[in-house]
Amino acid sequence: MSAECIFCKIVRGEIPSKKIYEDEDVFAFHDIRPVAPVHFLIVPKQHIPSMYEANMVHHQALGKMLALAGGLAQQEGADEGFRTIINTGRVGHQEVYHVHMHVLGGPEPLGPMIVRKQRGA
Ligand code: 5GP
Ligand code: ZN
Repeated sequence: MSAECIFCKIVRGEIPSKKIYEDEDVFAFHDIRPVAPVHFLIVPKQHIPSMYEANMVHHQALGKMLALAGGLAQQEGADEGFRTIINTGRVGHQEVYHVHMHVLGGPEPLGPMIVRKQRGA
């Protein structure tokens, strides 16, 4: 637990969130600035700053994040596909340093994952 971490505060209920799921290991809630019609986050309750710090000690929570994604996506209305993203570090454009998995869904297709750079342009 980190006293200052915004997602730890959400897990503890000190900052309000639109919760969609909770158990002893993980917590899922709507992203405050959605970039798709379905956009929620699944986080481990334990404070892990990034995927660099994740290891086998955390396998139960990390496994649950993946195992829950499809069911929660369907529950939230993304029943024709969705995308999971875990941003890590500076290059991954991570903004909040508490591991979180984005789950993004349509109904419209989300487009390519990363826009390809034009070669020789
Ligand atoms: P990152 O770039 O670290 O992968 O994404 C962080 C995400 O957390 C962003 O999509 C941002 O909108 C979301 N976020 C940041 N602060 C809050 C908050 O206080 N509440 C909620 N629900 N989402 C947040
Ligand atoms: Zn935290």
